[in-house]
Amino acid sequence: MRILVVEDEQDLASAIATSLRRDGYATDVAADGASALDRVAYSEYDLVCLDLNLPDVDGLDVCRQVTNGGTANAESGLLPPKVIMLTARGGIDDRIRGLDEGADDYLVKPFSLRELGARVRALLRRDSALGSSVVSVAGIEVDTARHEVTYDGVPVDLTAKEFALLRWFVLHPDEVHSAKRLLEHVWDEHADPFTNTVRVTLSNLRRKLAYAQPGANPIETITGRGYRLRSA
Ligand code: CA
Repeated sequence: MRILVVEDEQDLASAIATSLRRDGYATDVAADGASALDRVAYSEYDLVCLDLNLPDVDGLDVCRQVTNGGTANAESGLLPPKVIMLTARGGIDDRIRGLDEGADDYLVKPFSLRELGARVRALLRRDSALGSSVVSVAGIEVDTARHEVTYDGVPVDLTAKEFALLRWFVLHPDEVHSAKRLLEHVWDEHADPFTNTVRVTLSNLRRKLAYAQPGANPIETITGRGYRLRSA
């Protein structure tokens, strides 16, 4: 899961980013609206935490441009991200306009980072049609709140990156993901696209899943295209 934090208050931006990275999300930071739009045009973010009060562009304009109603990512054919607005107390009109512009949720400053984490989890699994924090595919249960994984009931102990990779697969079952796409969604902008980091992490993840369920290999390789977690 790749998240963009758009916030010009540097301390707050870095506190949010640190908290999201701790939850295993690949997180980038933009300090103004122009650089946010630039990033969204070239990278497929799953979610944007967007401060409405930015130094250059109106946050509501940024919101419109990154969601379905906008143009920031339409030309490149990227899927629009979910948006959580970060707003000032009393900015009710802004919040209503933001929701009308396609934002999915909002938090009023000051907010707790734990609440932000819970809202992020809720939005990112909205597509998976499950009410709880647990996502289950082909016997693999991923608790996105507790960071716990079981495979046919057997606990699987994963590193943060292995967990983030598996979480991506269970939230997008039956889709074929290229190594490039995995790198984009599970690693952040500091990842070197020319290393074999995806292959190494995937191979460790597969080994641990096969250890929990001997002989099982739920994540298949589609030659020349990428990797897929089959739901059945
Ligand atoms: Ca601000």
